[in-house]
Amino acid sequence: MPDHFNSPISDVDPLIADALNHEVKRQQDQIELIASENIVSRAVLDALGHVVTNKTLEGYPGHRFHGGGQYVDIMEQAAIDRAKELFDCAYANVQPHSGSQANLAVFFLLLNPGDKVLSLDLAAGGHLSHGLGANLSGRWFEAHHYGVDATTEVIDYDALEAQALALRPKLLIAGGSAYPRRINFERMADIAKKAGAWLHVDMAHIAGLVAGGIHASPFPHADIVTCTTTKTLRGPRGGVILTNNPEWFKRLQSAVFPGVQGSLHSQVLAAKAVCFNEALTAEFSTYASQVVTNAKVLAETLGGRGIRIVSGGTDTHIVLLDLKSRGLTGQQAENILAQANITSNKNPVPDDAPRPPDWVGLRLGTGAATTRGLKQAEFAALGEIIASLINAQSSEDAMQAVATARGKIADICADFPIYENQGTEPR
Ligand SMILES: *Cc1c(COP(=O)(O)O)cnc(C)c1O
Repeated sequence: MPDHFNSPISDVDPLIADALNHEVKRQQDQIELIASENIVSRAVLDALGHVVTNKTLEGYPGHRFHGGGQYVDIMEQAAIDRAKELFDCAYANVQPHSGSQANLAVFFLLLNPGDKVLSLDLAAGGHLSHGLGANLSGRWFEAHHYGVDATTEVIDYDALEAQALALRPKLLIAGGSAYPRRINFERMADIAKKAGAWLHVDMAHIAGLVAGGIHASPFPHADIVTCTTTKTLRGPRGGVILTNNPEWFKRLQSAVFPGVQGSLHSQVLAAKAVCFNEALTAEFSTYASQVVTNAKVLAETLGGRGIRIVSGGTDTHIVLLDLKSRGLTGQQAENILAQANITSNKNPVPDDAPRPPDWVGLRLGTGAATTRGLKQAEFAALGEIIASLINAQSSEDAMQAVATARGKIADICADFPIYENQGTEPR
């Protein structure tokens, strides 16, 4: 066996080892408020870093192209069974490499190039894989978008119904990346039916809230459901497709493989099974409920300090700030928060400017910091800290606010440690 085979990464690749170690420290020393992130368990990491990554397999459990798949079959079958139990549906495909891949497979399954799709507008919280012009979904299909009501900033289902009836799309997509409110899947299904469309629910962001019973399930209303296992579900990077339709299921299997993908990612599949098992526990429901409670506290605290919250609040883990009246762009706010070790991202608000540098939204999410153990008191404190950073009037005020905030964030991070024994030293 060559020496390098057993050497730790710190010996064979110091550049990457060093960057990995800094990344652990970065995660430990900041408060993560990017709504699409979370902090996975040791068990999920164990699966992701496992030698099962060496295994190449195509096909599905019991029907593989390659030999030696008996143990991965156990992992994939467990992932399938657990996903079905978790989301109360009849069929699951757990192989999509990402949420976007899952959506691509749904398009491949149900649509022909040029077919009409109706999805939530990007500026109203939609996702690029739902028909953005720069994405294949927008290039090869005729994508139309619905927005939110100009006053309430929530979906106006009556307006959506009128739009769908006039357009008659083949696919109606519900769900997005920055929509902070509950979605009425029953009403969406009714609209889809009247318009002669199928309803595709992309619950990527809220899958953990659905799993925890905090947000209503898309089943039995949706024809097909996709999600990521990252975000509130707190698992590895990857996607899932769910349906109750027995006729579609066979075609769905081949839409994923060989339709849009080749071999599966065995280590991710194992990690997905672990993630679903965690999400089936009562503890996870408690977590999901805390995520939403924390988001409400964050929204109320920021709102109380004069910062406008899109739609006036939240029903999920997402709190979307409109910083227009504060004279800040989302990017500027993101940078100010970063100086205090709070990580977030710029985002459009409804009817925002087309170019990202001009967006005035900042998206916050409570999934990751809630995993860390933060509760109402800490989120109220976080709200105060963020408000002090955003509301600083002069550059002197701002410098003072950053210094104070950095200290407070360091204290919170010390009180709620993560990955204490992680690092790239040999384990
Ligand atoms: C995050 C997200 C996706 C894409 O997931 P990736 O794994 O990043 O490809 C798809 N749809 C929605 C609504 C999302 O929020």
